[in-house]
Amino acid sequence: MHYNTLEGRLRVNKDLSKKEKRQEDPLKRYKRALEAFYAIKWRKRWLKSQKGRAIARYRPYPTKEALELYKDRAKAHCSILIQLRTEKIGLKAFLKGRRVPGYEDSTCECQEEEETVQHFLLRCQRWRTQREEILGPLAQKPMGFILGTRTTSQKAIEFLLSTKRLEQFQAIASTTII
Ligand SMILES: [Zn+2]
Repeated sequence: MHYNTLEGRLRVNKDLSKKEKRQEDPLKRYKRALEAFYAIKWRKRWLKSQKGRAIARYRPYPTKEALELYKDRAKAHCSILIQLRTEKIGLKAFLKGRRVPGYEDSTCECQEEEETVQHFLLRCQRWRTQREEILGPLAQKPMGFILGTRTTSQKAIEFLLSTKRLEQFQAIASTTII
């Protein structure tokens, strides 16, 4: 990378903005996930009708489990779950990574470590009460497990809402807990 020339810096900026354009709105991603889900449903029907085709053996459906997570779920909850799973979320570690002004330091308010999703969900002492109440023994499990099944991820969503840590979700905190 040529950070020390003007052209180099411009190129870096250009690449960044291109990259940012690719960062989609979570709801758009959710909608696309739904579309993909229905496409898979259609494809499965099609494959069923072509019994014994080799393609069925070589094409597992890697996204199906992930899609199940979002099926028939409140949009706001899908949005939270996508953000937790992708770690593209308004916590300090991500904001610093995106070079958001005012987030040059990603240390959590508790001063223990970076405010990552993992820290927020499983370790931060600021949310100990909510964690004990909502996650309970689940907090001992790996994050991938918690965010990977329907019932456990619901707990993570409820935990996030109960902390009111993210302003954008404060409005739904009191109304849409399922
Ligand atoms: Zn903390």
